[in-house]
Amino acid sequence: MASETGRVSALGLWNKARSRLPSIGKMPLTADLLASLAPLVRGSLQPNFALAPFTWFRVGGPAELFFQPADTADLATFLKALPGEVPVTVIGLGSNLIVRDGGVDGVVIRLSARGFGQVSLDAEGRIKAGTAAPDKRVAAAALEAGLGGFAFYHGIPGSIGGALRMNAGANGAETCQRVVEVTAVDRAGTVHRLSNADMGYAYRHSSASKDLIFVEALYAGEPQAKAEIQAAMDAVQQHRETAQPIREKTGGSTFKNPPGHSAWKLVDAAGLRGHMIGGAQMSTMHCNFMINTGEASAIDLESLGEHVRRRVFETQGVLLDWEIKRIGRFEPGREVAAFVPPAG
Ligand SMILES: Cc1cc2nc3c(=O)[nH]c(=O)nc-3n(C[C@H](O)[C@H](O)[C@H](O)COP(=O)(O)OP(=O)(O)OC[C@H]3O[C@@H](n4cnc5c(N)ncnc54)[C@H](O)[C@@H]3O)c2cc1C
Repeated sequence: MASETGRVSALGLWNKARSRLPSIGKMPLTADLLASLAPLVRGSLQPNFALAPFTWFRVGGPAELFFQPADTADLATFLKALPGEVPVTVIGLGSNLIVRDGGVDGVVIRLSARGFGQVSLDAEGRIKAGTAAPDKRVAAAALEAGLGGFAFYHGIPGSIGGALRMNAGANGAETCQRVVEVTAVDRAGTVHRLSNADMGYAYRHSSASKDLIFVEALYAGEPQAKAEIQAAMDAVQQHRETAQPIREKTGGSTFKNPPGHSAWKLVDAAGLRGHMIGGAQMSTMHCNFMINTGEASAIDLESLGEHVRRRVFETQGVLLDWEIKRIGRFEPGREVAAFVPPAG
C-alpha cells in the first residue's frame, strides 16, 4: 500500500473543545467543534442528522455529525483536521446496514454522488468508478463498452464503496474478480492506493484496514458481445424479480452462507420462514432476507436476527454469521445481546 500524501498533524480541535466541557467521556460533539471544522471544508456538515432515510431498512437513530465531502481533497482535509478520538463511520447506499436506534456517535461520512459518482473508461479500456456510483451504473458502463464480467452488478443495489468493502457478489461472480486497484483515504487524511491483493478479499469480506474510506476503483473486464452482456443482465433482473423481495425494506441476505450450507435452507429448516418480532420478519419469499414490514425499529430487526442465529444453532447445529452490518449504539435499556453458543 503506497502512501501518496504525508499526514498533516491533527489540529487539536477536539481537545480544545473538550477542555471547555464539564465532563469527559461519552460526550456529544460540540457546537464548538462543528464551528471549527465547518470553515475548513467545502462539503456539507450537519449535526444530529437522521440516517434512517439513507438506509434500505428505514430504521435507526441520527448521526451525531454527518459529513458529505465535496471531493477526495475535501475528505482528506476533514479527516486531517478531525481529532483522532472522534469515531468515524462511512456508509454507502445503506443496502447492507442496520443503524441502531440510539444513533451513531462521532462522524458519519457519506460520499456525495456529485463528488464521487463518476464512471469512465481509462486509456486501457478499464472502468474507473467513483465509490458513490451505484453498482448498476458500472454494469451499464461495462455494457456500453462491451466489457464482460459485470452483469452481476446489475442486480446489487449498493454503491461501489459498499461493494469494495463487502466483496459484493452474485450469480457466481464477485467484486474481487474485477478489481485492479482501489484509492482510499485513511483516518489521518492520507491517500493510499491498494492493489487487489492489498484488499485482502474473502467471501463477503475485505480485510483492508477498517479506517480506510474507498474513494475510487479501477476495474478490468474482458471483451464480450453486447447482446450477450445484455442477456446476462436481463437474466439477473428476472431472477431477482421472482426470487427476492427487492421492493421491500430489506438488507439483502441477512447471513452469510456457512461453508457447505445455504443460509436460507438453514433458516427454513429451523421453521423460521415468515417468523416475526415486532415489525421485523424473515421474508416468506426468501427466508434469508429480513424485512421491515412497516413499523419495525432497529431493535426488532437485530432481535430477530439474533433469535434466528440461536434457533438455527439449536436445531441445525450451525452458527450463522451476520452479513448485514450493524452500526451505532442501542437505546439505553434496549440492548440486544449477540447469541453466543454454549462452550463445548
Ligand atoms: C434487495 C437487496 C439485494 C441484495 N443483493 C445482494 C447480492 O446479490 N450480493 C451481495 O453481495 N449483496 C447484496 N445485497 C447487499 C448490499 O447491496 C451489498 O452488500 C452492497 O455492496 C452494499 O453497498 P452499500 O453502498 O449499500 O453499503 P452500505 O450498506 O451503506 O455499507 C456496507 C458496508 O460497506 C462500508 N462502506 C460503504 N461505503 C464505503 C466506502 N466508500 N469506503 C469504505 N467502506 C464503505 C460500510 O462502512 C459498511 O461496512 C443486497 C441488498 C438488498 C437490499
